[in-house]
Amino acid sequence: CGVFGIYDTTLPVMSYAYWGLFALQHRGQESAGIAISDGTHIELVKGMGLVTEAIKELPPLKGYIAGGHVRYSTTGSNNPRNIQPLVIHYQGGDMAVAHNGNLTNAYALRKELEDKGSIFQTTMDSEVIVSLIARSKAASTEDRIIEAVNRVEGAFSLVITTNTKLIGVRDANGFRPLCLGKTANGYVISSESCALDAIKATFVRDIKPGEMVIIDENGVRSRFIKEEALLPQQSLCIFEYIYFARSDSNIDGQNVYAARINMGRELARETKYDADLVMSIPDSGTAAALGYSRESGIPFGEGLVKNRYMGRTFIKPDQSERDLAVRMKLNAVPDVVRGKRIVLVDDSIVRGTTSGIIVRMLKEAGAKEVYMCVSSPAIEYPCHYGIDTSVRKELIAATHSVEQIREYIGADKLHYLSREGLCRAIEALEERELCFACFDGHYAVEVPKEEEEGGKY
Ligand code: 5GP
Ligand code: SF4
Ligand code: MG
Repeated sequence: CGVFGIYDTTLPVMSYAYWGLFALQHRGQESAGIAISDGTHIELVKGMGLVTEAIKELPPLKGYIAGGHVRYSTTGSNNPRNIQPLVIHYQGGDMAVAHNGNLTNAYALRKELEDKGSIFQTTMDSEVIVSLIARSKAASTEDRIIEAVNRVEGAFSLVITTNTKLIGVRDANGFRPLCLGKTANGYVISSESCALDAIKATFVRDIKPGEMVIIDENGVRSRFIKEEALLPQQSLCIFEYIYFARSDSNIDGQNVYAARINMGRELARETKYDADLVMSIPDSGTAAALGYSRESGIPFGEGLVKNRYMGRTFIKPDQSERDLAVRMKLNAVPDVVRGKRIVLVDDSIVRGTTSGIIVRMLKEAGAKEVYMCVSSPAIEYPCHYGIDTSVRKELIAATHSVEQIREYIGADKLHYLSREGLCRAIEALEERELCFACFDGHYAVEVPKEEEEGGKY
């Protein structure tokens, strides 16, 4: 998911939030919503689909605080009830909560809250946060939020709109990105810096793991959700750099594009394949393919055309739809690939659908050999922190060796980037500051059994 919030008394915040979310569209395409506060009331506009479909027309709502969300479902189905932000009206006022990430104890908390009489309206883990905030007995809004987020575990980057404040919170592990920007007379909170650029806000800094940033009439303040001594080691999702984030964003000091170029360079050093052409599976593999080409000296070519009007294929809920979607999205250019030994670069193999279809497509178009290079290690474990890398049994690397995968996708060679190479590619962070759980099964925040099964409510 993507979250975005703006506080500025001099700007039309609704349309700024709209364009901010538009710049975060890659983070979720199932639904979008924006909450706006004029100081006394919060109103919500929302809908299913892309930002442009979900919000066809901006209602003429006045206000100076807006917080929005684009959704990519991990827990909770793709259903209109699950559109965020979630709005509550409670004794402390109104509040709209937008959540990126996935909680690991939502199932247990929800049962506990239901036993105490809470009623849930959605099937999202995020609603647990809202419910905990509403039930809190703490005196101030900020303290209520801090109490609530200390009960939930897992990944959360939040943008919370209250009647008079815009609040950003990043979980203590800092799994998901969140940054602070500045407008002429106010501030912005965004999942990624690309959305700041889009609205000409200036980047101030990344919000730290465990930090809560409060923006109101007095400017911006910061608190921590736990004492510093209790904060764990950061474990930023490395998949943000590999695939999820937009390349023009900077996350925790690292430019995403530069990291992807480096990943490709590392792949070239690790494979040293003798080939005629380097190609990518666009768009997610393109920067790494360029890096491979620069490092190896093998020319980069565009052997696949992409239909720009298709969304991200992975996000389609079922397998036959995903299959068709790949064919609709990409097609080979025979003149480019004919007779060539091709290094084909993609960011990841999850189920093996995309690479399998593309390798065969290239061969049908006359490619002589296809050497598949993946700019991440093999994904063997599911993500429980907000990326839908699917349940374990669907992950091809969970049940197949590299050789079996090579055969399955029909490639002549297959190489996954090593963990060491990947770490070198990310220059701004140390290995210990990154989450690798989908590659090594080491989960920084424990995942209880019932949540592992997806915590069906
Ligand atoms: P597969 O086709 O092997 O199941 O998935 C790999 C492809 O899905 C890659 O091209 C990758 O860019 C794309 N992809 C799209 N969304 C996601 C996601 O959320 N996680 C992962 N791991 N890959 C994704
Ligand atoms: Fe990211 Fe993988 Fe960790 Fe999930 S398990 S947060 S996808 S690195
Ligand atoms: Mg891709």
